[in-house]
Amino acid sequence: MIDISQKEIWFVTGSQHLYGEDTLSQVAENSKNIVKGLNASSLLPIKVVWKPTVKSPEEITNICQEANIERKCIGIVTWMHTFSPAKMWIKGLTILNKPLCHLHTQYNAEIPWESIDMDFMNLNQSAHGDREFGFMMSRMRKKRKVIVGHWQNEHVQKKLGIWSRVVLGWDELQHLKVARIGDNMREVAVTEGDKVEAQMRFGFSVNGFDSSDVVEHINNVSDKDINELLITYEQSYKLTSSLKKGGEQRASLVEAAKIELGLRAFLDAGGFKAFTDTFENLGELKQLPGIAVQRLMADGYGFGAEGDWRTAAMVRALKVMNVGLEGGVSFMEDYTYHFTSQKSYVLGSHMLEICSGIADGKPSCEVHPLGIGGKEAPIRLVFDTTPGEAINVSLVDMGNRLRLIVNEVEAVKPMEDLPNLPVARVLWDPKPNLEIAATAWILAGGAHHTVYCQSVTTEFMEDLADIAGIELLVIDDKTSVRDFKDKINANETYYHLFQHKL
Ligand code: MN
Repeated sequence: MIDISQKEIWFVTGSQHLYGEDTLSQVAENSKNIVKGLNASSLLPIKVVWKPTVKSPEEITNICQEANIERKCIGIVTWMHTFSPAKMWIKGLTILNKPLCHLHTQYNAEIPWESIDMDFMNLNQSAHGDREFGFMMSRMRKKRKVIVGHWQNEHVQKKLGIWSRVVLGWDELQHLKVARIGDNMREVAVTEGDKVEAQMRFGFSVNGFDSSDVVEHINNVSDKDINELLITYEQSYKLTSSLKKGGEQRASLVEAAKIELGLRAFLDAGGFKAFTDTFENLGELKQLPGIAVQRLMADGYGFGAEGDWRTAAMVRALKVMNVGLEGGVSFMEDYTYHFTSQKSYVLGSHMLEICSGIADGKPSCEVHPLGIGGKEAPIRLVFDTTPGEAINVSLVDMGNRLRLIVNEVEAVKPMEDLPNLPVARVLWDPKPNLEIAATAWILAGGAHHTVYCQSVTTEFMEDLADIAGIELLVIDDKTSVRDFKDKINANETYYHLFQHKL
């Protein structure tokens, strides 16, 4: 359900009229070849579109205006093949409202020692042309990604691929609609926040609905659709015997299928790609949606529990960034610790709602009482997840700004089976270690809810923070608590000074 086929990024080459037609036609040919090469790379998820070389303030302003209004264009890549006096760029850069990546490259990789002459030097002068352009961007305080290296280099293409994925997520946030089914979990602080500020900053809208809006759709679900979904459940998961046909709790599974179908219909009717619910506002819903949420997330929907609309929007954005990559993206919560004398770990989970897309093997489908909320026992998918590198991401509202916090972790196989734990889970080793990671996370005000990502990395979040103009705090293998405190204090001043300009 995530379709990126219509999206494109524009490749804009800067130059000027000084060099004459021969040089400019060579510039155009070279930049076309670069675009061809980038489009042939499997590391870029979307189409790169070549645009004619810009040589004057008018041409630059026009291309920026066109980029702003063309919906297919989600970002532009700029490169100064030759020198392009940067005062020409001021107006265009002032009005540009799409993300920008400055690719600091050169058409040829190596110097042709024997044949190099002044003509060659004048044609291939991005080494200083891009510096002039870079000065203007910095002088204007424009946030952008800078990628340095030869365009055929895999590392360069990989970085451009990451930025392309981030702008896909950014584009998604511009028109994302988040449905908030019920309000916030009572008295919880971190999931509250300023929806107006979030919409001004990211573009996504959040609006409230009642569980009865979903129940209306549940009541219209057909028997045929229910039966088909039950077959899907039977084929995709290991059903507990009581949930199988004729089992004493089969009715719970039928109810869960109705909830899933009703929830999907509600989301589709409203064009919502992310949603929240909360166990305290279930109304006529008979179960807290478990399997429904897990499967909706696997289909690309964003989700946040207990009214957590910010995390729901982030789950969706990161799922769009992740499209086509091997690992998954899920709503997550730091749940329980495993302290040992050697190393300590976090067991991540939630009451029910972990994306089934990160399951390692076939999940089992079970029913257990929830213990809170006073509703019927909900159906859920229970599984372990694939071990490996991952990140946890939290977006919190600091009152005067939004703060994005990332912790790099390594998911490991649990030391033993967990036969009595009725929820999906991940065990991870946070970098640099639990003590420093949790200290830094808590000092940063990181939430208990996170987005857990297996393929989306810290670099993605760095690009996202730059595009959104928000604060980023990273906890990785180099983090020291003392430096981290200094960073928080320095950022407090920085964002206080620049909050209206970023
Ligand atoms: Mn929670």
